[in-house]
Formats: sequence, C-alpha cells, structure tokens
Amino acid sequence: MDLRQYVEIVDNYPKEGIRFKDITPLMNDGEAYRTAVNEIVKYAKEKEIDIIVGPEARGFIIGCPVSYSLGIGFAPVRKEGKLPREVIKVDYGLEYGSNVLTIHKDAIKPGQRVLITDDLLATGGTIEATIKLVEELGGVVAGCAFLIELGYLDGMEKLKDYDVFTLMKYE
Ligand code: 5GP
Repeated sequence: MDLRQYVEIVDNYPKEGIRFKDITPLMNDGEAYRTAVNEIVKYAKEKEIDIIVGPEARGFIIGCPVSYSLGIGFAPVRKEGKLPREVIKVDYGLEYGSNVLTIHKDAIKPGQRVLITDDLLATGGTIEATIKLVEELGGVVAGCAFLIELGYLDGMEKLKDYDVFTLMKYE
C-alpha cells in the first residue's frame, strides 16, 4: 500500500514558504492508518520495546495504537502546565523563541526500553528534547519511529546515535 497518497501537502501552512505534510487523510482511512501502525508495531517487536513515549499531540496518534496493539504502556510528553503531577522538564529552541516539554517523573522505570513515536521528523528539536527527558529518567531509547522524515532538514543528524525507523521520506 502506497501511504504517500494519504499525505496531503499544504503549501504556505502554517506560514509562508512551509510545505506542511498533513497526515489527517491517512488517519481518516482505516486501512492506511492500520497499515502504518502495523509497520511500527513490527519495528517495536524487533526492538523489544517495554514502553512508548510520544510528544503531544501527533505523537499520541501514532504511539497509542502501537501501545494498545502490543499491550504495553504509553507515556505522554506534554507542554508545560499540562501534566498534573510531578514532572521533569526540558527547554528546547524553536525558530522563534523556545518551548518547554515535560514528562511525569514516574513515567519510565530505569532500564526500560523505550520507543519514541511522532508523526514527522523535521529539524529534530522535538525528538531531541523527548530523548533528553527519557534518558534523564533512566530509560534506554531503543528506537524512534516516524511516519515521515523530511530529508531536506537535519533531523537525522541529531539522531545519528539512535536507531530510527521512518515509513516515508520527502526530499
Ligand atoms: P521538529 O521538532 O523535528 O522540527 O518538528 C517536528 C514536530 O513538528 C513534530 O511534532 C510534528 O508533529 C510537527 N511538524 C513540523 N512540520 C510538520 C509537518 O509538515 N507536518 C506535520 N504533520 N507535522 C509537522
């Protein structure tokens, strides 16, 4: 199944010059969504993953069905102020300004093998920050999985010490 036909490219969104990859048509099609999730489930089995971690919001869309399918847990990474209990946080740079991501302090047990999921790898800032949170809690980042990798940005460079699985690459 060619999953690319379910990714809609939206020019100049969210701002001038950006070609946004919209994955909602993929989620909208039951077969396409299931195919994509199943590929990541296979990868997670190979990597003997104990728990999945995903940044809000689209990391949940990918990671939660994988967790459900494998019968393993999912830990959300969220923007500051959104998680109700004790968290650890990380600051990361955006094109303009910075952002803070958080995870519950008890979300991962030391030594657990973690798969980090998100819909898309662009500059790698979000995933790098998520890796920092996981490692600070003692988790082992055993893999990172994305639907889409943007080959024209340097996200992969930031992940060169990690195992990465992507379903589609856009140049
Ligand atoms: P990065 O931190 O790698 O620069 O950006 C990746 C994050 O931004 C991901 O969480 C992703 O959801 C979002 N993102 C950036 N560009 C796009 C895009 O073109 N399409 C989608 N669906 N998400 C994007």
